[in-house]
Amino acid sequence: MFSLKKILVVGSANVDFVIGVQQAPELGETILCRSFRKTCGGKGANQAYACGRLGGDTAFLNAVGDDPLGGELVRNLQQANVDTRAIRTVDGVSTGMAVVCVDEKGNNSIIVVPGANNLCDVDYLRRNRARFEESDIVLLQMEIPFESVCYAVELASGLHKTVILNPAPAPDSLPDEVYAGLDYLTPNESEFKRLTGCPTDEVEELAVHCKPLLEKGTRNIIITLGSRGALHVNREGHTLYRPPEVQAVDTTAAGDTFNAALARELADGRSTGEAIVFANMASALAVSRVGAQDSIPSYEEVLDFKKRME
Ligand code: AMP
Repeated sequence: MFSLKKILVVGSANVDFVIGVQQAPELGETILCRSFRKTCGGKGANQAYACGRLGGDTAFLNAVGDDPLGGELVRNLQQANVDTRAIRTVDGVSTGMAVVCVDEKGNNSIIVVPGANNLCDVDYLRRNRARFEESDIVLLQMEIPFESVCYAVELASGLHKTVILNPAPAPDSLPDEVYAGLDYLTPNESEFKRLTGCPTDEVEELAVHCKPLLEKGTRNIIITLGSRGALHVNREGHTLYRPPEVQAVDTTAAGDTFNAALARELADGRSTGEAIVFANMASALAVSRVGAQDSIPSYEEVLDFKKRME
């Protein structure tokens, strides 16, 4: 019987403090908030949580501080059946945090405290080589130190693992060796534009701008295009996969859900096309609900949604 392959997520974990205000404070001004909410986030933790919710056999590598927030992040991931045993707890360092100020028009200003995320460093990853060895799929984003991402790609691809890099937030460029080590690069539209300088969001043009990255050795590029779905480009050509039509109420964590669902289906032996169809379903479902991790569906919910859509 086929068993699910193992997924290793390496990335950030933050506690988000979401503060609703009428208007962001001016310089020197003190204001009262209208609402306050504390949630678990960070792209790495969101994607690990989503992999777990979607039934993936998932482990997470990251660092947290020895404060109560670190414990909250770990417990939250455990609730989604994520293996948290290798998470590093560092004395005297703050757990990663983000203070998100949202005004009445929905505009955000965000201050990120990377804290322990900066200690998800090359040394720590080197010490956890066994975690890479026992995994089949390695899923990465860019909210931990740049050199850690480069090292993780090199290590995982050297071990012939399936490597997925969600380049969020996008750097100006990536080293050629990183491109060469990737099975999947999964930017959204703006991340893709930043990486390649592609001036338009027209599908044919996006596909043309993938060519130099494919020549550097990346096997597949999947550009997520919001309500337009996802564009898959490889050496054979390109295909646009449209998502089901939904009433979008909150797009937070759509990309995280997409990446996790892609990894989960690849871990189940699905083809890239099948995995994208499932990822579109899972993330469309997530955008039809309010919240970040709260909006991420379970595997059964996605299957049920898929049935209703057919
Ligand atoms: P994004 O990061 O905004 O490109 O979104 C990631 C994925 O979420 C997309 O590739 C779609 O599968 C899904 N998605 C985002 N927005 C919508 C929407 N309005 N309707 C349906 N699916 C969406």
